[in-house]
Amino acid sequence: MAKLLKDKVAIVTGGARGIGREIVLMLACEGCDVVFNFQKSQDSATALEKEVKALGVRCQASCVDIRDSAAVKAWIAKSKEKFGRLDILINNAGIVRDKALMLMSDEEWGDVVNTNLDGMFYAARACIVTFLKQRSGDIINISSVSGITGLPRQVNYSATKGGMNAFTKALAKEVSLYGIRVNAVAPGLIRTNITDEMDEKRKQEILKTIPLGRMGEAEEVANCVKFLLSPAAAYITGQIIAIDGGLTMR
Ligand code: NDP
Repeated sequence: MAKLLKDKVAIVTGGARGIGREIVLMLACEGCDVVFNFQKSQDSATALEKEVKALGVRCQASCVDIRDSAAVKAWIAKSKEKFGRLDILINNAGIVRDKALMLMSDEEWGDVVNTNLDGMFYAARACIVTFLKQRSGDIINISSVSGITGLPRQVNYSATKGGMNAFTKALAKEVSLYGIRVNAVAPGLIRTNITDEMDEKRKQEILKTIPLGRMGEAEEVANCVKFLLSPAAAYITGQIIAIDGGLTMR
């Protein structure tokens, strides 16, 4: 059977570990060439690049700070030149700097906004002209349930993920007629570095409120991304799809 994304080229931000890594592997397994960036995880990035190439697709890992507008622009332009096309952008790079608002520093606010929101804007802007010209393209933003319900001690993170959700809808409306779909997935509590570093007591409290009674796996987020990139999802755009074990159901 032909692979779902054969001969396509995807950009994944923050692909070296966690959810990004699972998305990179899923794309490669579906026959897609994958370009991803990292900031600190050089060793994981090098190992993943090798693993992906062994799957028979092209792959390039680059050290690019997603907060750096010019660097992101140059990275995406060079990737297009090297790989010959661009079809998919997955905005995944993201950080948390949790703190009560009264204690939150300018830096803790700014770091989260620059990474989660500015980074997405820089990457989307760098891809959109190509997508508009070819009249096709898929953008998937990795948001969070924090941007849907808001979470205490996360005003910075909730604000960026809520912004990401609004960005998704606004851009979907702006580019739909050009054959470009823009969607977001909003994970709940997923087992990665972000949740490993979370306060255990807080994690247990959240776990009690998850109807499915467990944390999610990064692979489950990648599976939803796969669905959104498939022809089965051709009529879906501007949506924020929660992958949260029922946490945000109403
Ligand atoms: P991880 O901490 O495991 O991964 C974060 C990724 O973002 C890393 O690959 C990291 O790269 C990259 N990154 C961070 N800052 C930068 C930067 N300045 N430039 C380039 N890359 C950067 O977290 P997750 O895999 O859990 O998170 C992935 C996404 O999923 C995030 O957007 C997060 O908000 C979202 N999410 C996660 C949830 C969870 O429960 N895990 C829940 C809801 C949403 P490097 O290691 O090289 O620094």
